[in-house]
Amino acid sequence: MRPTDILNGELCVGGLPLTRLAERVGQTPFYAYDRTLLASRVASVRAALPAGIGLHYAVKANPMPALVGFMRPLVDGLDVASAGEMAVALDAGADPLHVSFAGPGKREVELVQAVAAGVLVNLESMREVALLASASQRLGLPARVAVRINPDFDLRGAGMRMGGGAKPFGVDTEQVPSVLKAIGAAGLQFEGFHLYPGSQNLKGDLIAQALTQSHELVVRLASDAPTPVKHVNLGGGWGIPYFPGEQPLDLAPVSDALAGVLQRMAAELPGAHAVLELGRYLVGEAGVYVARVLDRKVSRGQVFLVTDGGMHHHLAASGNFGQVIRRNYPVAIGNRMAATEREVASVVGPLCTPLDVLAERMEVACAEPGDLVVVFQSGAYGPSASPQAFLGHPRCAEVLV
Ligand SMILES: *Cc1c(COP(=O)(O)O)cnc(C)c1O
Repeated sequence: MRPTDILNGELCVGGLPLTRLAERVGQTPFYAYDRTLLASRVASVRAALPAGIGLHYAVKANPMPALVGFMRPLVDGLDVASAGEMAVALDAGADPLHVSFAGPGKREVELVQAVAAGVLVNLESMREVALLASASQRLGLPARVAVRINPDFDLRGAGMRMGGGAKPFGVDTEQVPSVLKAIGAAGLQFEGFHLYPGSQNLKGDLIAQALTQSHELVVRLASDAPTPVKHVNLGGGWGIPYFPGEQPLDLAPVSDALAGVLQRMAAELPGAHAVLELGRYLVGEAGVYVARVLDRKVSRGQVFLVTDGGMHHHLAASGNFGQVIRRNYPVAIGNRMAATEREVASVVGPLCTPLDVLAERMEVACAEPGDLVVVFQSGAYGPSASPQAFLGHPRCAEVLV
């Protein structure tokens, strides 16, 4: 579901050939996110899942305001991880009823903002119960809360684990009953539970297993809740293929497990509504990063394409955003998609560090200064997850096309 249209040898994004898009943007490097691909991804997820499951977008994956505004009417809610993201979600027109706010270190002012906005707070510690109680009292509004559970099982297969074992995220299963009691005593408006076992999982059967385990855990903990469970956020963590040999996620087992969970939930937690929160799975494949070749150097037999972009805009493609072993994102010379002359080259950025690599010894079309390097799978964890100030180079642009 990455851009695939080619016109006169040029990759098209949002219907525009890349060289023309670069002129339209007025600079390189830039990120471009394709509306058609975003919408078709949401539609295909909905088609694959049983009816009745809510679909939320996790703004952290790509907080560009125009993109969040485009996603907002396509999904059933937005999940945010800071007051800054909450502001983007509310500016995009999100209904606070369907915005939830998670994160391990919410500042007092952020909790007050969340109560004033009327969003659901996925609370992650006893400290947050106390702060929300005083915010509720001062504002005369009961805080809407769900408890984020740090489960007593692992989601195997996740590229980044965020639940199970000792974690700063959520409330350990064994501490949940006392947090629920405190929520009841403080008069907060309890709505349900949130689980998020981890990110970048490409194994549908393991995601399916975690969904079923999550449901069972929620049912177990619900017996200590001050009021009936209305909302269960079952998390997400669905991955996209970045590297050679990775296969797209098989949604069939996920969908089957979800159908079972929804059926059991209707019986075991009547009145509860379940949602999934997906970040990169919805937006990651719809975006590309584009940088211009500034120089072509041959050093002791190896070709280096030096571009005006690099790790300061795209930390993830450089291999420095959580990867253990550096592997190449899919990269191409976007204005030479039909070229038959190809060579092995490394694509690097302008920074004075050996970490500034976009592709290492990869086969690409033979390129010259002025050509446009495209990094695919770049719709998530791009500029907002990159150290743009590092070395004082210009910032990248972002466009929604
Ligand atoms: C990071 C995060 C997400 C989004 O993760 P993706 O891998 O982009 O899907 C969703 N929910 C929570 C709680 C997160 O921390």
